[in-house]
Amino acid sequence: MNAKTSTTDQVQERYAHSLMNTFGKPKLVLTRGEGPFVWDADDNRYLDLLGGIAVNALGHAHPALVEAVTRQLDTLGHVSNFFATEPQVGLAEKLLELLGSDGKVFLTNSGTEANEAAFKLTRRTGRTHVVAAEGGFHGRTMGALALTSKAAYREPFEPLPGDVTFVPYGDADALAAAVTDETAAVVLEPIQGEAGVVFPPDGYLQRARETTSDHGALLWLDEVQTGMGRTGSWFAHAASGVTPDVVTVAKGLAGGIPIGACIAVGEHGSLLQPGNHGTTFGGNPVAAAAALAVIETIETQDLLGNARTVGTALRTGLLHDRVGEIRGSGLLIGLDLDAPVAAAVTSAALEQGFIINDCAPDRIRLAPPLVLTQEQAGAFTDAWPKILETGYAQAGQA
Ligand SMILES: *Cc1c(COP(=O)(O)O)cnc(C)c1O
Repeated sequence: MNAKTSTTDQVQERYAHSLMNTFGKPKLVLTRGEGPFVWDADDNRYLDLLGGIAVNALGHAHPALVEAVTRQLDTLGHVSNFFATEPQVGLAEKLLELLGSDGKVFLTNSGTEANEAAFKLTRRTGRTHVVAAEGGFHGRTMGALALTSKAAYREPFEPLPGDVTFVPYGDADALAAAVTDETAAVVLEPIQGEAGVVFPPDGYLQRARETTSDHGALLWLDEVQTGMGRTGSWFAHAASGVTPDVVTVAKGLAGGIPIGACIAVGEHGSLLQPGNHGTTFGGNPVAAAAALAVIETIETQDLLGNARTVGTALRTGLLHDRVGEIRGSGLLIGLDLDAPVAAAVTSAALEQGFIINDCAPDRIRLAPPLVLTQEQAGAFTDAWPKILETGYAQAGQA
């Protein structure tokens, strides 16, 4: 056993003794990153095609992000929400500009908190009933969990906030049948991320908009995973032409600095009033400055265009006999394998220097940094047949 291997083993052992076992054993101990690459404690390099789960929009250690965070921390690192700061206000304005709507923003520290804010906002309509989709994921706090259908996540924590109806995702008729004049909101992901990058049929969001408008219910789109350029546009719902009432974002927003936002359109921005909601850290100037730097870099480097181009190349390069459907938009990509071997394929990828995600037994998800180049994507697609071969062999499915 060499010295470096023992570093990994030691950190793993300390982890097991000191951190709650909520995530299982960590796959690696990582020590540094640059661009789309990370290095482990044994100095092995990996191409990070998961990007911290759709978070590291600019990759690792991007100079624009490092500079913005350093400068803000050196100037004013935190104030309470008794006070305003320029980055906080600038970010709220920028989010509304990107969404193309008037409205108001509540800044949080995570996706689940953005959804909590939205959930509380829907209660201020005077109604309580919410319709959510099967297969959807909205976070782990009690409110967001109440809107998440997966039994394994929910059941250990019931009773959760009630009055939630789940409908099959993508079925506009089922949605229409579930929404009544008592419904406060319908919450949907424009593309279901955790489920494995699952798209609804064309026209679904438009039908959801019609249904909610007919009943005076809010249409709330959870873009925590799909938003902020991930799909090659600022918001995944943009292509539908639909104007939602509430949009939540988080993951990629500040490129790895914790943040989230609940954006309410038009008069819905006034539903939460003084005393209704709060946060100590949300809107923190360092996180807001980081988000502004990420957004500006995406704009100046045309990373939306890059996400579309490199995403298309990746999807083409992933075609293979053992691969079924390949879905994606920009750099959010999901694919189905022809057997439940996604965990083994993910391990094989890791052994060959690539970080990917098995989001279901037979599904792989990629959400690489938006700065990923064609050449870097090509390194992965060149290795892909070998990764599949090794993974299937290790799973006894060769
Ligand atoms: C990740 C995710 C969340 C939860 O975000 P956290 O920052 O982990 O709390 C909520 N909704 C969607 C669609 C997500 O992908």
